[in-house]
Amino acid sequence: AKEKGRGKREFFTDEMNAFTLERLKLEGYLRKAVQKGELEPYFQPQYCLKTDKVIGFEALVRWNHPELGLISPMQFIPLAEEIGLIDEIGRFVLMESCKQLKRWHDGGAPHLSISVNVSGRQFQRLSFVYEVKEALETAGISAEYLHLELTESTMIQNVQYSISIMEELRELGVRLSIDDFGTGYSSLSYLKDFPVDSLKIDQSFIRHLSDDYFNTSDAAIIKAIIMMCEGLSLSTVAEGVETYEQMKLLREYGCHTAQGYIISKPMPACEAGEFLEKYMTS
Ligand code: C2E
Ligand code: CA
Ligand code: CA
Ligand code: CA
Repeated sequence: AKEKGRGKREFFTDEMNAFTLERLKLEGYLRKAVQKGELEPYFQPQYCLKTDKVIGFEALVRWNHPELGLISPMQFIPLAEEIGLIDEIGRFVLMESCKQLKRWHDGGAPHLSISVNVSGRQFQRLSFVYEVKEALETAGISAEYLHLELTESTMIQNVQYSISIMEELRELGVRLSIDDFGTGYSSLSYLKDFPVDSLKIDQSFIRHLSDDYFNTSDAAIIKAIIMMCEGLSLSTVAEGVETYEQMKLLREYGCHTAQGYIISKPMPACEAGEFLEKYMTS
């Protein structure tokens, strides 16, 4: 039994070594990727269910590796957070997104907004508000068109400090949104305390939403969230909308904005521009 136990441990150690090696490799690649400009924001349309218009895009970063291909942010954002690269990546995505938005504004869509994801570490940095100002000024866009998406875990790391930063950002005119709402610990009292403009209903609630589906609890939760937001004067965005039926139901419930594959997957900037043009002239 002892033999077996030791063997087990050794096996485990080997696995850990392989894991560490993979990670070290990935870490090295990621550092280079940032320097070599292999990261690129993609853009996913946000569709207003009241006016049937595209009102903005969410910027979602992609890693274009020359050999490995397109790598999902789920695979490298957590690593980037751990090793401190997220500051650089976050600044880059913010700046690029604002510059891209300026091109779309100048190209005939002057009221389009851009939503940018902010990681906890990036948000807690003392220079964050300065970085936001810098991006707005460099790109030459008005603050009201920049929406920052924060998750609860980002905001609850240091509640009082987070609230003060959020207030500073709102004073600039930037809009704030709670991302992935309903996942994690979601204390409702936060909605009262955190100065935000909108709330994104997590896609896990939208996924099973349909007319003929037996499970009605997701529909009940979505309706309750939307009603509560109405009372709090918060706008609602549903993410991960994949079917017409889901879009129809969300519209019925009074949800403001939909985002998901039914409208479009995230696209590179040029494709998003074409989408916008086709959409504006049709
Ligand atoms: P998120 O902010 O919750 O973004 C939504 C994710 O859902 C995106 O995954 C998007 O491509 C995907 N999605 C959109 N519509 C649909 C749909 O209809 N069905 C399904 N199944 N999925 C849909 P993505 O692009 O892989 O990003 C994953 C996460 O990585 C994001 O989740 C966000 O937390 C993070 N992330 C992405 N870009 C950035 C960034 O620039 N900075 C930071 N800090 N995090 C980022
Ligand atoms: Ca987001
Ligand atoms: Ca989300
Ligand atoms: Ca998410």
